[in-house]
Order: sequence, then structure tokens, then C-alpha cells
Amino acid sequence: MICKNLEIIWEKIDKAANKIGKSKDDITLVAVSKTFPVDKIIEAYECGQKIFGENRVQEALKKVEVLKDRYPDIKFHLIGHLQSNKARYLKNNFTLIHSVDRIEIAELINKYAKKNNLVQDILIQVNLAEEPQKSGVLLNDFDKLMETVLSCENLKLRGLMMIPPLVEDAEMNRPLFAKMYELFVKTNDKYNINMDYLSMGMSDDFEIAIEEGANMVRIGSAIFGKRG
Ligand SMILES: *Cc1c(COP(=O)(O)O)cnc(C)c1O
Repeated sequence: MICKNLEIIWEKIDKAANKIGKSKDDITLVAVSKTFPVDKIIEAYECGQKIFGENRVQEALKKVEVLKDRYPDIKFHLIGHLQSNKARYLKNNFTLIHSVDRIEIAELINKYAKKNNLVQDILIQVNLAEEPQKSGVLLNDFDKLMETVLSCENLKLRGLMMIPPLVEDAEMNRPLFAKMYELFVKTNDKYNINMDYLSMGMSDDFEIAIEEGANMVRIGSAIFGKRG
């Protein structure tokens, strides 16, 4: 079932990418395995999926512990809100952290990365729709956070991430995806940098996100089924 789902998703990814002159090779798929047990991850891995997304540090670390020796090329991304008191546990367990959204957490990740003598790849999460109570930096605070991140020697900024509001029809978020792509391009230009990942698009809207410029999608339920 998981293999079949992955196959269908890759076909849809390719089709969406083709619409804007790209192919599936230009898109990175993060299989969001939060709440699903290790055997489901193994099932997906054996169908060729190598990158998994988790939203809680503790849950992720348990899975990493079980899987990392057996599958040396498996990769975990942290996609969920990161509490300050968890930064010390990150170590080298996550190849990419999608959810850096405030100066305090950027500095903490940097501090522990330095302690562990590593450079942590990160994305800045933007709350583009300015939804209250949602994670992500507001546009007003974006440049200050950018400057902090760029000054942190043990952080490598790889791109931006966005979670759109819940809507009935995914098409309603198309303008927001487009606006996010615009911010991505502008930011590279303004800071004269070369961020390579724009992480947006989930099970219900990944095709639209890709059509509007996403090159990293985070898909859970369409691969693993409904979460309990
Ligand atoms: C759960 C989650 C996803 C995946 O959502 P699905 O609708 O199951 O594809 C993507 N991104 C983040 C940040 C998530 O927490």
C-alpha cells in the first residue's frame, strides 16, 4: 500500500513539475512519518523513500535510534515547532530543520551545533498568512531573523518553509504559495545568497505548491494513511 501510494504521488509530482518546465528530479519528497511506527518507515524506505519528516523531537529521536545503524542512508527532517528546551537534543540527528522561526531558537541551535562541532542545515519558517497562534516568523520580523541566521557560523540557511491556513479548497491557497515563492526569490537576491529549498505543499495541496515554485514537499497521510 505504501509503495503504491509513493508511486502515485511521484507521478503527480512529476505532472505538476512538468507544468512549469521541471521534472520530478527537481523535487524533494519528505515523507511525514509522525505518529506512525517504525515498521511503516521501513516499508517506505524499502520502496526507495529515504527522507522522513517528524514534528516532535522526542518521538523522532526514538525512531532515529532504532533505524540509523540498520539504514545508514536514512535521513530525518524536523518539521514541527521546536521548543527551546529541546535544542540540546538535536545533535546530528536531523539533516534539515524546517521550523526555525525566532531569533532565540536560531541562536540555541547554533550554540549546540557549535558545541557538537557541526553545521546544522536549516530553513526559516514563515507565517505568511499571519495566523495568530501559528508557528513561523511574521514578515515584519523576517529580516531581523535572516540577519541573525546569516551571522550564525554553525547554521547553514538552505531555504524557507511555509504552512498555509486550513482551507476547504486548496486552490484558495494558490496566491499564498505564489507570494511565498516571490519572497524566496527576493530574499536570495537581497542577501546575495543561494538558498536552494522552498518547503511547502502537503497531502492536499502539494501539486499546487509545486506549480507555484515549491521544490520540497512534506507529505504524510497520502503516503501512510490517516493519522489516528
Ligand atoms: C503533519 C505535517 C505535514 C503532513 O501533513 P499531511 O496532510 O499528512 O500530508 C506536513 N508538514 C508539517 C509541518 C506537518 O506537521
